[in-house]
Amino acid sequence: MQRANYHTHTCLCKHATGVPADYCHFALDSDMTTLGFSDHTPHPDGRWDSVRMSVDELPLYVQQVRQAQKDFPELQIYLGMECEYVPESLSFFRDELLGRYHFDYLVGAVHNYPYKGEWLGMFGTSMSADQLHAYTDHIIQLIGSGLFAFIAHPDLFGLCYMGWDAETQACSKAIIEAAIQYDIPLEINGYGLRKRMIQDHGTWRFAYPLLPFWELAGELQPRAITNSDAHQPIDVWGNRNDCLNIAKHCGLTLIERLSDNPPNSP
Ligand SMILES: [Zn+2]
Ligand SMILES: [Zn+2]
Repeated sequence: MQRANYHTHTCLCKHATGVPADYCHFALDSDMTTLGFSDHTPHPDGRWDSVRMSVDELPLYVQQVRQAQKDFPELQIYLGMECEYVPESLSFFRDELLGRYHFDYLVGAVHNYPYKGEWLGMFGTSMSADQLHAYTDHIIQLIGSGLFAFIAHPDLFGLCYMGWDAETQACSKAIIEAAIQYDIPLEINGYGLRKRMIQDHGTWRFAYPLLPFWELAGELQPRAITNSDAHQPIDVWGNRNDCLNIAKHCGLTLIERLSDNPPNSP
């Protein structure tokens, strides 16, 4: 049976620890068969570079993953990248990452979204209903781009939007329906389960995964994938069993391996 994680970071992003070889050692210790690296992509214009590698470091990242493929033949290792949806960067993703460097896959993620002419982040902030709709529009564009093998933590808005109401229901439904339309798996992300819980109208909950989001997904039936989103080697299988339990609880259909889901998939 395949034991895979397709969402793995490295110290090049400046907020994770360990090089690819360190993650490979822990993957073998966790009886894993498959490891996909998906560090945060650089952007050609250097935006948000305090939490990602620079374009200059891209060859080093590629070389470290390629070296790990040689050094750990017992593991199926893939070269990927987690990408923000920025229209100006799309040609870089297509021509450089997929074209020149032959990346196996790209992960689509929204940690930043445009709102009234400026980019807003998701961390350490609050989100209005209007902003939730802007986030939703942005992630639907990302899904529709067809560049990405799966969509990381589509419920990340749980970090900053409090409550589950008509707005979250409508936006979650729109995101899930877009994933169904374009046949792109949505990710139940284990990293949220390792982060500090937050208080939402007097109740403690995880920032994400958001259970009501995944219960709605269970009714609508997009394809789903679970990943640890490891930011340190010891977490390479982190909280995956919890994610699998959420999938089971919600009756979600998980993809077995990324290769079941073209385009741009190993
Ligand atoms: Zn990260
Ligand atoms: Zn990530």
